[in-house]
Amino acid sequence: MIILSQKKRDYYEVLGISKSADLKEIKKAFRSLARKYHPDMKPDDPNAEEKFKEIAEAFEVLSDSEKRARYDQFGHSGLNGASFHDFSGMGLDDLFSGLGIFEDLFSAFGGRGSRSRSSRPRARRGQDVRLNLDLSFDEAVHGLKKKIKVPNWAQCPTCHGSRVKPGKSLDECGYCQGTGELRQVQRSAFGQIVNITTCPRCNGEGKSLPRGAACEVCDGLGKVKQFRTVEADIPAGVDSGMHVVLRGEGRPGELGGPSGDLLLAINVASHPFFQRNGSDILLEYPISYTDAILGTKLIVPTIDGNETISIKPGTESGYIHTLRNKGFPIPNSNRRGDMHVGFYVRFPKKIDKLSKKYLEELKEKHEESEIFGKNGELYKAIQAIRKT
Ligand SMILES: [Zn+2]
Ligand SMILES: [Zn+2]
Repeated sequence: MIILSQKKRDYYEVLGISKSADLKEIKKAFRSLARKYHPDMKPDDPNAEEKFKEIAEAFEVLSDSEKRARYDQFGHSGLNGASFHDFSGMGLDDLFSGLGIFEDLFSAFGGRGSRSRSSRPRARRGQDVRLNLDLSFDEAVHGLKKKIKVPNWAQCPTCHGSRVKPGKSLDECGYCQGTGELRQVQRSAFGQIVNITTCPRCNGEGKSLPRGAACEVCDGLGKVKQFRTVEADIPAGVDSGMHVVLRGEGRPGELGGPSGDLLLAINVASHPFFQRNGSDILLEYPISYTDAILGTKLIVPTIDGNETISIKPGTESGYIHTLRNKGFPIPNSNRRGDMHVGFYVRFPKKIDKLSKKYLEELKEKHEESEIFGKNGELYKAIQAIRKT
């Protein structure tokens, strides 16, 4: 079980450029970083692929004036819903066809990025599967074992994946003439660019389904959706925005490639009175002005049960009492955060006649110097004003 805390880095920071960088600088930065972190250059570095995808994603956004403008204004959230390659879940091959227009950049890597390499069949890692997982506050505190239904496509048992009824067959795709891809040559300021995209009609298969020939069980998909149940061990202390990764529980790989991962995107519900700040818990606790003056003992709920906290006479509003190690467990460690109880003094908005009489008597007893402190500079200044 691996926990990823998913905070996206700033795209300018990723490419190491300033916010005012022009397209030429962006391309230059991408080119040198892509060369440095290309997984083919660092086959032994397991982080190279992730790093490379991060660079590619930053480049995709910043090299597109519309996406860049939205990112500058709204940050990462401005790109939600934009047509956008989710590089994090992509294999390298997908990544390069996604960035097909920049193939020229990759000629330095022995043709990586040009489609020709894929004519040689090669093992491919299965895709990652991403699911959202909602947890209650309490489940996040204690962790739990959770049965997860993972959608899984299996070959259609009726047509055995051929997509057609018995006695029928597929036609050649007329859109791509059966090649499965479309080639476009573009002239641009950066030279001639060959843009190769997967045929949108046949999704690269090169075949089309004639009218009325579809297998009735799978509706011509060749596969049927099933669910597989995986037991996930959610560790105590997970937080919203984290991902719990189950290695190898994603889609199966092709041609002997490893399976992808199952990524559970965690969302933890809020609590009626505990607030969470990382692994710390905050609790705002009101006390009466009489308790603040006289001091008292208070019962304070924690995630481990109730605690008694002593309040000293003369406690000020804003006093914070810290209970060490009463916060959330920190995943993948045996440490815990703290709990901070912040007291604030409540005053009555209305008081009855008798209370008012007592308070006025008390007021007489208190000297101004007690409030300011006898040697306070503000006290001295006010005394000086009074004298004039
Ligand atoms: Zn079928
Ligand atoms: Zn086609």
